[in-house]
Amino acid sequence: MSLNSGYKGSRSLAFTLTLFYSIFFGLVSSFGMILIYHHVASRLENDEDKDLAEINRQMSLSLQDQDLATIEHQMSLLAQVYGNHDCFFRLLSTTGVVRASSDMSGWPSIPPIQMVGSNDVRRIIPIDDARGSARVLAKNIDSANILELGVSMEGHLHFLERLRQVAVLVEVLMLTLGTLFGWGIARKAMKGVENVTDVAAKMAGGDLASRVVQGRYGKEIDRLGSTFNQMADKIQLLMADIRQTNDNIAHDLRSPVTRIRGIAEAAVIGKVSVTEQVESLGMIVEECDHLLGLVNTLLDISEAEAGINTLRLEETDMAELIRQAADLFKGEAESRGIELGVEIEASPRMAIDVRKIQRALANLIDNALKYSPRGGKVFLTLTEDEASINIDVCDTGVGIAEKDMPHLFQRFYRGDQSRSQPGNGLGLSLALAFVKSHGGNITVVSKPGRGSTFNLQLFHHRKDQPSLGAVRK
Ligand code: ADP
Repeated sequence: MSLNSGYKGSRSLAFTLTLFYSIFFGLVSSFGMILIYHHVASRLENDEDKDLAEINRQMSLSLQDQDLATIEHQMSLLAQVYGNHDCFFRLLSTTGVVRASSDMSGWPSIPPIQMVGSNDVRRIIPIDDARGSARVLAKNIDSANILELGVSMEGHLHFLERLRQVAVLVEVLMLTLGTLFGWGIARKAMKGVENVTDVAAKMAGGDLASRVVQGRYGKEIDRLGSTFNQMADKIQLLMADIRQTNDNIAHDLRSPVTRIRGIAEAAVIGKVSVTEQVESLGMIVEECDHLLGLVNTLLDISEAEAGINTLRLEETDMAELIRQAADLFKGEAESRGIELGVEIEASPRMAIDVRKIQRALANLIDNALKYSPRGGKVFLTLTEDEASINIDVCDTGVGIAEKDMPHLFQRFYRGDQSRSQPGNGLGLSLALAFVKSHGGNITVVSKPGRGSTFNLQLFHHRKDQPSLGAVRK
């Protein structure tokens, strides 16, 4: 199954981003073009009005004290200059009677403009041909006469039509650019995400060494890539750890099973007496117990690590717990010729699963005795600070080699020094799993040849600490 299979139906992010950019560009450019169009159109109108007013002013000055024939002649001359089809002049009485005009044959009948007071009046008069309309300016030149100047709006309308065409063209261009730009940006952003997806797919296919290449697609994608790579590193380590643990388990279970098989085979095939057969059976039971012990310890570790087992918390006197542990190992220490001391600097109480913490502590003390030579010393110290309770198990034993330090808490790991001692390499794993299930930790400092100190730390408060109410009794 491909990683993408669950997303086939959904629209791709690249498409959505492109659509967004296109719409955005389209809207912004439309808005811009509308603004420009209105600005240009009103500017044009203003300019035309100014021109009309200026021509009208000059004309009215030149008509002062002239007879009607001269006036008409002047009007005709000027209209010819601008084109009779594109402009006209008329002199009207205040009652609207035309007294003189330029050649109006190219113009339909245009009603006289009604003046209001002494102000100039502007009108747009519709015309039923290509000119569309005429802009007319009427001006009182004296108390009895009105001068009208009309111009065709054909050029004006034509210009606006061209402006509209250019606007549409620009709009289409911006939309295309927006789409291309959006597509480009979306592709660039998505390329980084696809890169991560490809690596995830490779990992899902079993290639755990695959990693995201960084530094190509921008900061955010790089951060995604580096977080992904960190996760991939962890997964790879975990998988290696699981493989190693499986190998170790298989290896460590094979030895007792092989031994059991050997004893049983010898008892069955060999010509042995009944007494020897009973002895063999006894050995088999012993080996089976050993095997069962291993399997049970493995299960305890797994359960503690997975947090399956509810802790059976009890308010416990930690000083008493340590004294009891020391008493338990007193005989063993004496028989090994090792001095076992206790130093208690606090008497805190804490809610713990007594059996588990006892087992963890016992494993640490057992190791300290096991890996200390005759005449050595093992010391248990209990201290407390605001945050935590610390139990130190300190020995003057063989110490731990630098190369063993990172592996001590792995299942079945045994250091070179331990070969001469009994053990299965599960003691520290179990201790750590139990302490971690309480939210605590075990750390170690050691000097080869001088001794080691294991620190078991339990915190007074932790977020995920189970409350006493949830305790199973
Ligand atoms: P085991 O003691 O059964 O080998 P553990 O899990 O208890 O397994 O310990 C793992 C390894 O850590 C031991 O094999 C030993 O090499 C090392 N170790 C643990 N405790 C000590 C100690 N106090 N001093 C020296 N080495 C130790």
